[in-house]
Amino acid sequence: MGSLVIAIDGPGGSGKSTLARELAGRLGLERLDTGAMYRALALAVLRQGMDPGDARGVTELAGRVRLEIEGSAVRLDGEDVSAAIRTPEVTRAASAVAAHPGARRVLVAEQRAWVESHGGGVVEGRDIGTVVCPDADLKVYLTADPVERARRRSAELAGAQAADAAADELARRDRDDSTRATSPLDVAPGAVVIDTTGRPVEGVVDQILSLLEKR
Ligand code: C5P
Repeated sequence: MGSLVIAIDGPGGSGKSTLARELAGRLGLERLDTGAMYRALALAVLRQGMDPGDARGVTELAGRVRLEIEGSAVRLDGEDVSAAIRTPEVTRAASAVAAHPGARRVLVAEQRAWVESHGGGVVEGRDIGTVVCPDADLKVYLTADPVERARRRSAELAGAQAADAAADELARRDRDDSTRATSPLDVAPGAVVIDTTGRPVEGVVDQILSLLEKR
């Protein structure tokens, strides 16, 4: 049997990370959180005092930093930045950084190399089914009600961000991520759209496992 690739896309708070983690565990696959890569690049940009809107500078830096993702751990040039990339400031900078085609080219190449070297995996992001792994064995696009997404995001940040602030941030990012010219957030051809509102993750995992069996 060849390698198995599962692409999971969707907006913030739709349940991608939780689902990717559970699914990878059940299938004995590794998972790659590509959002963490854009976040780590954004952190590097901010630390350099660079403007996240500077396409050339950000693209050049993307080629220079070393990003390593292992499960939930993220390293930037060898330093564990797993917590540092979750601040509202980095979140904001991440969508600005992710809008530059040059920076995306660098990260997409690294993501494809990761899939290649790991013999497949569960890959989550915004453009996995459309750009990074268009030939994935299964493409899933998650959605959820905006109120629930804001509640999840606020809980994920351990209450550091109130639900209404989380709702504002998500709405802004939805707009930015869906309207940018390069690789906007969109449902990939052939993707299964799953609304996770009010659904425990186990049910969604079972649904996906049965979709895989029916392939
Ligand atoms: O998924 P997460 O919220 O960590 O992603 C942070 C930001 O990174 C997103 O808002 C989006 O702008 C960008 N991103 C992207 N493409 C991906 C993953 C994330 O543009 N594949």
